[in-house]
Amino acid sequence: SIVVTGATGHLGRHVVEQLLEKVPAEQITAVVRDEGKAADFAARGVRLAIADYNTPDTFARLFAAGDRVLLISGTEFDKGRVQQHRVVIDAAKAAGVALLAYTSAPSTLTAALADDHRATEEALLASGLPYTLLRNGWYHENYTENLAPVLEHGAVVQAAGDGRVSSASRADYAAAAVAVLTGEGHENTTYELGGDEAWSFPEYAAELGRQTGREIAYHPVSVEALTGVLAGAGLPAPLAALLAGVDASIEKGELVVSSGDLARLIGRPSTPLTEAVTVALKD
Ligand code: NDP
Repeated sequence: SIVVTGATGHLGRHVVEQLLEKVPAEQITAVVRDEGKAADFAARGVRLAIADYNTPDTFARLFAAGDRVLLISGTEFDKGRVQQHRVVIDAAKAAGVALLAYTSAPSTLTAALADDHRATEEALLASGLPYTLLRNGWYHENYTENLAPVLEHGAVVQAAGDGRVSSASRADYAAAAVAVLTGEGHENTTYELGGDEAWSFPEYAAELGRQTGREIAYHPVSVEALTGVLAGAGLPAPLAALLAGVDASIEKGELVVSSGDLARLIGRPSTPLTEAVTVALKD
């Protein structure tokens, strides 16, 4: 089967939906920790496996020889993501899966956020499993799903200066994962994935202004100030620092991906930021 972890997350849901368009439902296994969140998948014939990265036993008999597995990186920054991912890699190795694809980060990203991804890549390569590294760039949705404070204050507040980022939609990255899971010849391959167009925050603020008909400015701040803003909005302090730290990388151009891998894998241009803005403003 094709097995997807994090299947009830935002990216995982896109992956399962797109897989359902390509392969029979019974060939898809969604790995979830909360069965209730996956009732819609089950109703459509997708197999469910209940497992948690923090409980290795739950992965013990989950995989079968020949499976193609997508390990979607976790979000529990305080629980040791590398160890969590290693649990999945070890179980996949024991079962003898045919492919383990992992959602990583661009090789150019030096922010602390990338550390877990580098360490997971090392563990995956050390396992000797056939692997695919999907080094996902930034999501449009990181910004377009957080428009409420921007519209309230008429300001985009970031710490990235005039740095550019070539983001793409989650659906685009999901399509790349599906191409790998359902295609041939992706073993032991690394893809640097990013959107076709790089944009800057001044341009983003201008686009929001155009689409809302309102005055929206870009307020560049320091990484420290942004950490304070994010913590003030309720994020735990270490996570706020981790996310704000990414802006320093954006300012240096570390989230500009120009490989063309994403468009090549999905066989179409990536979704423009303007489209993600339009969708977000309709919601
Ligand atoms: P989500 O937060 O929507 O999804 C994370 C998924 O991981 C969820 O399905 C969640 O399960 C699952 N998960 C978390 N902890 C565990 C655990 N202990 N055991 C089993 N499953 C677990 O993130 P996205 O789908 O938007 O993004 C996918 C991943 O990409 C993120 O997890 C993160 O690592 C990374 N990311 C990348 C970004 C980018 O711009 N490239 C931005 C943000 C994140 P449940 O559904 O039960 O909560």
